[in-house]
Amino acid sequence: ALRLESVSKTFGDQVKVAALDQVSLGLPYGTFTAVMGPSGSGKSTLLNCASGLERPDFGRVLIGGQELDTSDETAATRFRRGRIGFVFQAFNLLPTLTVWQNVLLPARIAGTSLSREDKNRARLLLDRVGLGDRLNHRPAELSGGQQQRVAIARAIVNRPALLFADEPTGALDSVRAAEVLMLIGESVREFGQTVVMVTHDPVAAAYADRVLFLADGRIVDEMRAPQAAGVAARMAAFRPTEAAA
Ligand code: ATP
Ligand code: MG
Repeated sequence: ALRLESVSKTFGDQVKVAALDQVSLGLPYGTFTAVMGPSGSGKSTLLNCASGLERPDFGRVLIGGQELDTSDETAATRFRRGRIGFVFQAFNLLPTLTVWQNVLLPARIAGTSLSREDKNRARLLLDRVGLGDRLNHRPAELSGGQQQRVAIARAIVNRPALLFADEPTGALDSVRAAEVLMLIGESVREFGQTVVMVTHDPVAAAYADRVLFLADGRIVDEMRAPQAAGVAARMAAFRPTEAAA
């Protein structure tokens, strides 16, 4: 469902940083993939290129067999809308909207008026992430972890075929993190979503079907049916490289 073909992205004018170096991968519908790797290894860049938020220098991104054309901004936005959900590393909630309005934003943008189903689902998701009593709060009145949970509810409310999440559990304690990861896992199984999640946490990665390990903009390893201990051991091998960088 999601294909990257030799995607490369370089930043900088003087000093060039290859954030992504010819990354190719295929992620079928109904799969949950975790992306791990040291800080600066290109994880966020991978998500941004795969979702069309950033334009690769080389290579192609195909969603459902259709190429993501980032040269036409409005066409790309229209294509993304409704198909792609995104949880950002910084939560990106709209500060002037309440929790309820933030969560219903994708449904409002995608369609005309909000259906009863949209509202029921938003309500259910907010209950599931423990924020059913915070509907009228604004982001500034919530903790970081609460804002993160609103961002997750917003990203999955209209069942996007693709969900990209950059450290969706980074600000959460282990109980809340487990709730959110189970919610994402259910979404994958019930709606056949393709989920790509960046995480530093081996326990979070173990909820995925597959873990990709990035280093210096390349996929250097992968693990299927990951266990937290195995993922932690693999990550430990990166530490010397990270310290040297
Ligand atoms: P972290 O775990 O710290 O979030 P990451 O793996 O997500 O790291 P990226 O944000 O993808 O890393 O960055 C990969 C490389 O590209 C880094 O060296 C970073 O400095 C560089 N980079 C990313 N975005 C930009 C940008 N907009 N301008 C210049 N350099 C950038
Ligand atoms: Mg990042």
